[in-house]
This record gives sequence, C-alpha cells and structure tokens, in this order.
Amino acid sequence: LFLSFEGIDGSGKSTQARRLAEALRAQGLEVVLTREPGGSPGAEEIRALVLNGDPDRWSAETEILLFTAARRDHLERTIRPALARGAVVICDRFADSTRVYQGISRGDLRATVDSLHALMIGREPDITLLIDMDPEEGLSRALGRAGTDTRFEGFGSDLQKAMRKGFLDLAAAHERFRVIDGKGDIDTVFTRLSAALPEFFKA
Ligand code: C5P
Repeated sequence: LFLSFEGIDGSGKSTQARRLAEALRAQGLEVVLTREPGGSPGAEEIRALVLNGDPDRWSAETEILLFTAARRDHLERTIRPALARGAVVICDRFADSTRVYQGISRGDLRATVDSLHALMIGREPDITLLIDMDPEEGLSRALGRAGTDTRFEGFGSDLQKAMRKGFLDLAAAHERFRVIDGKGDIDTVFTRLSAALPEFFKA
C-alpha cells in the first residue's frame, strides 16, 4: 500500500508520518518511510539544488521539471521496488505538493504539472492523508523549527492560505484523500489519523 502525507509547511505531517511508520512497524509490517523532494540518492541531490539558492534563478516551468525529475527517480529507485516486495510505503509529500506548490504559487501551471505527471509518473498514492492546518499556526510552527530548508518557509500567510485551499480542493476532487484536522498536540492528531485508517487500526 502506498500512502502519502500532504499539508502546508508546519502542518505537522512529517511528525505524523514518522508516528504512523512506528505504529505500523510495531504491527510487524515492513514500512518504507520516505519523503519528497528526495527519497533516493539522485532525488536527494535534486532536493539540495531546489531547496537552496535563489528561488528565482529558474522559471516556474523549469522548477516543475526538476521536481518531476526527482519524483521519477524516487519512484524508480525507492517506491516501486518497495511496493513490489509488499512493503507499506509512507511518503512525506508526493505529486499533490507539486500540484499545489508549483501548480498555483507562480501562476496557474496546474495543466503543465498534470501533463508531466501523466507522462513521467503516472502513479498516485492509494491513500493521501491531508493534515489540514490553519496557515497562521502552520507558519509560526514552520518558522519556529530548527532546520535548513528556509527556501519556501518565507511564504507569507496569504500564499499559505492559497496553498491550504489548493490541498482542500484536491481532497474534494479525489477519493483517495482523507482530511485530518491538524490542530492540537501530536497525540491528539495521531488519534484522529488512526481513526481515519481502519485498514490498519481497529476501532
Ligand atoms: O515537507 P518539507 O517541509 O520538508 O518540504 C520542504 C520544502 O519544500 C517545503 O518548505 C515546501 O514548501 C517545499 N516544497 C515545494 N514543492 C514541492 C515540495 C516541497 O515547494 N513539490
């Protein structure tokens, strides 16, 4: 089974992805916890390129190509082999992040993102967990976190609001989405998350 986590910066999705991986491993399942951009050696190299440096040195289209190239490598080298041996793959961000971040933040490029996806990726997660979060809260969490990925976290909260709406619109359009309220502490959110995954957690 292929699961992805999505959400705006600071939504807490990475923490929840780790918690879920631990819980499923405790059930004896093989879990591959991975992330985008990155998740394979080649894609991690692309991550280092796209998340550092002047964000305007490439056009929006070039940026979409780079994210898609990283995803293609990640899919070939990490995701498909893991699914083929029966592992559960948990991916912290996948194509929906590109639909939202590259698709709507620098003009409306959603059709470009979707065409490239159809051509080069052609795979969606079985289940997408959207950790929904108020952007003001998400931004302050993201800025308060120690880390080096400062490239996108300077986003003002108007942009964050558009991103949140972008994710919610995708969730409304695709059945694979399950929307989890991201408010509250880690345990509270994880309780909601497990309730949304009856495949793994009996009520
Ligand atoms: O999920 P994480 O916070 O590690 O993502 C790193 C950064 O990359 C985020 O700040 C996110 O905004 C950005 N990103 C992006 N486009 C993607 C995936 C991530 O702009 N397709």
